[in-house]
Amino acid sequence: MKFGGTSVADPDAIIRLVGIVGHQLRATPSAPPVVVVSALAGVTDTLVATAQLAEDGAAERAASELRALVERHVAVATAVTSESRTRLLADLRRELEELSGLIHALAVLREVSPRSRDAVLAVGELASSRIVAAAIADRGIPSDWIDARTVLVTDAEHTIAAPDMIETCERARGRVAPVLAAGKVAVLGGFIGATASGITSTLGRGGSDYSAAIFGACLDAAEIQIWTDVDGLLTADPRIVPQPRVVPRISFAEASELAYFGAKVLHPSTILPAVGKNIPVRILNSRRPENPGTRITADGRPEQGQLTAIACKRDVTVIDITSTRMLMAHGFLRRLFEVFERFKTAVDVVTTSEVSVSVTIDDTRRLEAILDNLRNFAEASCEPEMAIICAVGENLRADPTVFGRAVTSLDRIPLRLVSQAASRRNVTFVLRDADVPQAMTRLHEQFFGRQ
Ligand code: ASP
Ligand code: MG
Repeated sequence: MKFGGTSVADPDAIIRLVGIVGHQLRATPSAPPVVVVSALAGVTDTLVATAQLAEDGAAERAASELRALVERHVAVATAVTSESRTRLLADLRRELEELSGLIHALAVLREVSPRSRDAVLAVGELASSRIVAAAIADRGIPSDWIDARTVLVTDAEHTIAAPDMIETCERARGRVAPVLAAGKVAVLGGFIGATASGITSTLGRGGSDYSAAIFGACLDAAEIQIWTDVDGLLTADPRIVPQPRVVPRISFAEASELAYFGAKVLHPSTILPAVGKNIPVRILNSRRPENPGTRITADGRPEQGQLTAIACKRDVTVIDITSTRMLMAHGFLRRLFEVFERFKTAVDVVTTSEVSVSVTIDDTRRLEAILDNLRNFAEASCEPEMAIICAVGENLRADPTVFGRAVTSLDRIPLRLVSQAASRRNVTFVLRDADVPQAMTRLHEQFFGRQ
């Protein structure tokens, strides 16, 4: 059970968390949960800012940021504990005093190496996990706090460390499994680990999901729960489609397609360790724990005849490249894409006919140079204010009528490009940006009904 920053933001959130964990333990007493927590909301950002102040030599301002941080943690810790309070506060003070010594030293040096930065950032999760563990214990739930740095072993790529799965799994079996076997909940900080020689490391921003997937994979969890502040992945962006639905089930590959379009609930690569072991990942709302959330699995198993979700990316530019020299010639596409490579511009959608190629880009900073270079060997023109709509669903492969219904629902909306790639789990439409609200609404109605 991973709880993100907003699910441990303040005393109320932590009390809710304790309720959710207690409920889970009563449901599966023989398989107690492992609880993985993020830093309290905003704390990692504050620590990043504090490290920056140290690097700038602003020792006084860094120290005052830290004082505010200590106050916040002490206030939250005091509010959520009783018997454990004295010990918890002593632990927190010690942890935060060490941090202030470190920040002072960095401010003198005016240098923050990646390794030092990890030592600073790790304090957020060390503190939050201690608070949560004490809060859980004080509500009579048998539990142990475990320093995640003694379990999660990483390489020495500080700030973006990668886990050593073999060593980590061995330690998880040695340190975490016995706690669970004794019927207790194990509580660890996410995002943090240590190198083989014991130097504190972090997995990169947002890394707590990754920690949860790693521990879950190592311990053969029945399920990995990502507790956050939304009900799950949505069938469409609520800013465009009124009242989208929560996607009940989605495959890992579908979730990856959607992530590109800014469905920011989680980064799919962070749950790979779980998907690789066929462990379902569930996204749940800690404010509405009774809701079923979204379940991500390797195969997804969508409802028959249904799309899984739709998404869009607005304000893209279409570039059309036409040349009769392309006809039956080889090497044309290489020349074409070399231009985009030279100007470091990513291409999203690509469609081709015999004598023309159309691509979309969203970064138009080098557009003029790109067009100039393309014109050395072809006609090139561009059209701004376009958008990409992406319909995602494993059913697109299995059931040809799904594609037909998608296109039919867009009747009379001019489609500029249509593309379906080899995976055939998505179909992409490029159309005028102005048509997006209508197109998304119609597609959504076709597959998910009116609300
Ligand atoms: N606290 C870390 C961050 O904000 C890790 C996480 O929340 O997943 O990036
Ligand atoms: Mg966070």
